[in-house]
Amino acid sequence: MEWQQYRIVGNTGAVKLCHWMRQKLIYGRPCYKEEFYGIESHRCMQMTPSVNICNFRCLFCWRYHGMTGFEKSGYPEPEQLLEECMKEQALLVSGFKGDPRCASRLWDEARIPNQVAISLSGEPTLYPMLGEFIELCKRKGMTTFLVTNGSVPKVLAELSSMPTQLYVTVAAPNKDLFDRLCVPQTTRAWENLMETLELLPSLSTRTVIRHTLVDGWNLGWEKEYARLDEMAKPFLIEPKGYVFVGDSRTRMNASNMPSHACVREFSSRLAEELSLEIIKEREDSRVVLIGRKGSRLGVRAREITST
Ligand code: SF4
Repeated sequence: MEWQQYRIVGNTGAVKLCHWMRQKLIYGRPCYKEEFYGIESHRCMQMTPSVNICNFRCLFCWRYHGMTGFEKSGYPEPEQLLEECMKEQALLVSGFKGDPRCASRLWDEARIPNQVAISLSGEPTLYPMLGEFIELCKRKGMTTFLVTNGSVPKVLAELSSMPTQLYVTVAAPNKDLFDRLCVPQTTRAWENLMETLELLPSLSTRTVIRHTLVDGWNLGWEKEYARLDEMAKPFLIEPKGYVFVGDSRTRMNASNMPSHACVREFSSRLAEELSLEIIKEREDSRVVLIGRKGSRLGVRAREITST
């Protein structure tokens, strides 16, 4: 992992520069999250508290699945996790200073992240101090995006501090496809995901359902996805095309990446089922945002409960 430029914190934490950091610093091209939500790509820290721990083996996952078992020790404390991730992020960013294409203002800002994407790899709800970690980020004035596979509803229900935005990945319209594509390693994973979807409307944060779409696998079934989305009543829905990167290349083919047109067509059918609209899209990321027109999408100044 270190060879792939991950930096490991404790036994289970990790941070890695996102592809969009370079794009923003060198070419001024932001990630779709900057366009959708006002996240400054160069100030976003992509990390995980559980890099080697997941209870799924999704075929589309970019992480290496050879690491087995669940760590029972070596979890970094929240303070250590945040502090060391920030330190490592600053070191990883430092290499851009010598590049004349990198504006010094952006470089300075990039060394002090103000957004934490808890999503790099692994399942973050399996980290036992997740609420405390989010609270710590909040106290430091940072926003947080948490991405979960929805397999541990109890953790979400009891989270002591909610993220700014909570993503739940729903990558299959039914249990059969879910079992084949997400390959859960625990029993009742689908039932737990359904429980998470039922829980979502009661959570006091902005919720997003992420549909990761893999051509030849889970594209289509808009009516079935709509039923699941109706259950979760998310503020937003983000259908996003699978990307042929990392270890997923050993399980998928480049042809499993849907075109933006396919993602858009899926999104427009889904939006129609739900009487919602496509409110944003970004072709190069093959991502579409579904919600209510006029929704305020920024994450600063508590714009997050406006839909
Ligand atoms: S839930 Fe996430 S980390 Fe776990 S296998 Fe699936 S994509 Fe990978």
